[in-house]
Amino acid sequence: MQTCRFDTLGCKVNQYDTQVMRQALGSLGVKEAQPGEVPDLIVLNTCTVTETSDSKSRYLIRRLARENPQARIVVTGCYVEADRAAVASLPQVSACLGVKEEGQLASLVERWREEDGTTGSACTDMAHDLKMSPHSIQEFSGRTRAYLKVMDGCNYRCSFCKVRIVRGNARSRPFKELTAEAEALVGSGHREIVLVGIQLGYYGRDLVPARDLADLVDALEEVPGLDRIRLSSIEPKDITERLIQRLARRSRLCAHVHMPWQSGSDRVLTRMRRSYRRQDLEHITRSLRSQVPDIGIATDIMVGFPGEGEDEFLETLGLVEELSPSRVHIFPYSDRRGTDAASFSDKVEPAEKKRLVERLKEAAARGERAFHHSLLGQSVRVLMEGACGGEGWQEGFTDNYVRVRVSSGIPLENRLAQVAVTHAAEGHIFGNLLSFD
Ligand code: SF4
Repeated sequence: MQTCRFDTLGCKVNQYDTQVMRQALGSLGVKEAQPGEVPDLIVLNTCTVTETSDSKSRYLIRRLARENPQARIVVTGCYVEADRAAVASLPQVSACLGVKEEGQLASLVERWREEDGTTGSACTDMAHDLKMSPHSIQEFSGRTRAYLKVMDGCNYRCSFCKVRIVRGNARSRPFKELTAEAEALVGSGHREIVLVGIQLGYYGRDLVPARDLADLVDALEEVPGLDRIRLSSIEPKDITERLIQRLARRSRLCAHVHMPWQSGSDRVLTRMRRSYRRQDLEHITRSLRSQVPDIGIATDIMVGFPGEGEDEFLETLGLVEELSPSRVHIFPYSDRRGTDAASFSDKVEPAEKKRLVERLKEAAARGERAFHHSLLGQSVRVLMEGACGGEGWQEGFTDNYVRVRVSSGIPLENRLAQVAVTHAAEGHIFGNLLSFD
């Protein structure tokens, strides 16, 4: 078994977990298959956040099996946790490894190498006798920004969510392990680290002595050569006053938060079993804006939750207009089998959901435009990621997470560039390159 291909569906945590497996196989000398090359092994790391994620996983497994009839397929991740039997019954699946078993992949590959000549057609369900590889990474292939998973699981109980069911309760990784991993990532050339976790804001509460995200940021700031630390999605209730103060002190911590509001209606938030109410969102957002003036605040909104009528929708629309986030990801609600919300009776019709999504998109676009226009004429610092389109166009992100495009004959990937913002377009802004390091 010499070559492998990795495919990942879903969130940043899954991308991190794939990188862990990539590295574990790399240490056995398994090379990543080049485009067009038929691999010996395919690892598909799945997601189960919606019913569509499940069907996408099934479709991909069938397609990968068809296109690579000689390859063994290992399926990992959340969909395995949610429905192991369904995954195991798909063609060519040689092993199913749930979230907590992914560390067994390298040991499984070693066993297959020893057994070379077996067909691998019978699916290895649970591999209890296999060794676990260390759950850490030294680099993040193919990405300028490296993800660092600081915790897994979630202690909230949102009524629409399957993720917390499959990933279990929140648990933090040891403090020292994370600082060491950050040092290794910087040693591999990463200048920005994104802290990821299913309930990121929980970080440290279960450690002895207890820590929090602000402590972790303080420790990471001591890592020589690390230019930026970014928080990924964080629950509103986990944005504490202490964390806001930490953001206000900035230094290398990016002025950016992504906090999923889901709704602006208390009635809907209650049925969603979210841990906050509209007033909390207003308070946290205002507090962030007053203490971190240039902060980019992105959010997720779920539209068409069971029981959501025109009044509830207008409350959400009003909240988006009032607080004007820099970016809004809008999702129509869809039933997820096994969740409480799936059994709620008062479902919103698909056509109505579509109409509500379109209405909300207009308000969201106005907020994004306003944020982009506020940067016109400013000089911003951009971590460049690479080419975008032809003729020297390259792009990267500001610390408040605006996509910036510049034209230059100099390759700028992984450079921190100073850019004078000249104009705004849909989804990004343009500027002139002033300097870079
Ligand atoms: S906060 Fe809610 S939606 Fe997010 S993972 Fe936890 S239970 Fe799921």
